[in-house]
Amino acid sequence: MSVTAQTVWNNCLDFIKDNIQPQAYKTWFEPILAVKLSENSLSIQVPSKFFYEWLEEHYVKILKVALTKELGETAKLVYIIKMENTYGNKQPFTERIPSSNRSAVKAQDVDIPLNNKSPELRNPFVIPGIRNVKIESQLNPNYNFENFLEGDSNRLARSAGLAVASKPGGTSFNPLLIFGGVGLGKTHLAHAIGVDIKDKYPEKTVLYISAEKFTQQYIDSVKKNNRNDFIHFYQIIDILIIDDVQFLSGKTGTQDVFFHIFNHLHQNGKQVILTSDKAPVDMQDIEQRLLSRFKWGLSAELQSPDFETRVSILKNKLYRDGVEMPDDIVEYVAKNIKSNIRELEGAIISLIAQSSFNKKEITIELAKQVVEKFVKNTKREVSIDYIQKVVSDYFQMDIDTLQSKTRKRHIVQARQLAMFFAKKLTKASLASIGSQIGKRDHATVLHACKTVDNLTSTDKQFRKYVEDLSKKLSV
Ligand code: ADP
Ligand code: MG
Repeated sequence: MSVTAQTVWNNCLDFIKDNIQPQAYKTWFEPILAVKLSENSLSIQVPSKFFYEWLEEHYVKILKVALTKELGETAKLVYIIKMENTYGNKQPFTERIPSSNRSAVKAQDVDIPLNNKSPELRNPFVIPGIRNVKIESQLNPNYNFENFLEGDSNRLARSAGLAVASKPGGTSFNPLLIFGGVGLGKTHLAHAIGVDIKDKYPEKTVLYISAEKFTQQYIDSVKKNNRNDFIHFYQIIDILIIDDVQFLSGKTGTQDVFFHIFNHLHQNGKQVILTSDKAPVDMQDIEQRLLSRFKWGLSAELQSPDFETRVSILKNKLYRDGVEMPDDIVEYVAKNIKSNIRELEGAIISLIAQSSFNKKEITIELAKQVVEKFVKNTKREVSIDYIQKVVSDYFQMDIDTLQSKTRKRHIVQARQLAMFFAKKLTKASLASIGSQIGKRDHATVLHACKTVDNLTSTDKQFRKYVEDLSKKLSV
């Protein structure tokens, strides 16, 4: 076989794939195209400058090792940065809004179409003028990049956010989907991006809205018979930020309208930023066509911060509030509250308050009491192993039987119940639940959850199982 850019690059990819996280591989290597090979130099095309900088910063070593293996010690890598246009190079859009709504609108000069047919539409963000509409961005200036501290847990999401803010609609990160557990900074980061864009591009229309409010507005618009105006309004936004999109799950009408709005914005090079408490693969009851759009851009995870990051977040907070606190106390709090930055901040605030109300000195003793209260109040997460043990004990079988491949009905049901409770009581993804309960895939887990839901409402005996197990598992 002759050596081409493609074959060389494929070999490099095989090597890289074995050496880095699958998610990182998917994000940073799959989008690369091998374009040219001349002697010892390979040219690869990357989607943006940010992308190139990220590769240089994080993957240059592994790239070098891989390429040297292929082309020898004098191997060279040349990056070609693709012109960044965000639309026109994607799959064709198959669905369109009826032509009556398709009239072109410019953000700054909008004939308010809201008035002729439907006088009562009062979008809370529109302050109607004579010809211009001004849209309040709903951003919270206190959530900015400056006080969004960087750590390993958020580096990818934060950098992607910065890249999007410096070129909204002009990077391959469209949509940018930020996902992660409760209290890890999704809302903060989403605002920070919007605030930064407003700062750099004051003429752009930015709108932050929670998925819940979006849904409410949509329902109202249907009631008042001005759904089209609702769509119109969202189509003139340049940067649309929707927080907690998991809220749309099961709400097909709202998903449908969001799908149209999304397509319109994306097609016109507008930026969409979404947050969710789950990765796209774990989102339930979100239509496939919408999920596939979520995956077009970049999904970046916010993970639990490590100890150093927790300490620096706390110190930064104390500094901004002008409060001094001994290092050992800050570290004590950071050591004991791990998985939620909101709680971390809550503990420190309550510590400050306790000490100033009671005129007590802030001591380790006091810190212990406060932290204990916080940790106690947070429901402890049960483990999947524990769930499997409780379920198999309840049905008097051992865990191996529960996990086995058998199709015997009572064993299948026990397994499905274990999966159902694992989904309900832990933050584990469907895929991870499946792999821990008998090496099944995420679709099996999803199916199990649906089956349990169905049986609970149709089968009395089964409902009793669910109730008993719920009691046993409640912590
Ligand atoms: P989520 O939306 O993911 O539930 P939030 O964005 O509301 O979380 O964040 C919870 C709290 O933690 C907020 O007060 C936020 O300012 C703070 N926070 C989160 N991440 C960081 C960070 N990297 N640096 C500083 N503060 C942070
Ligand atoms: Mg939030």
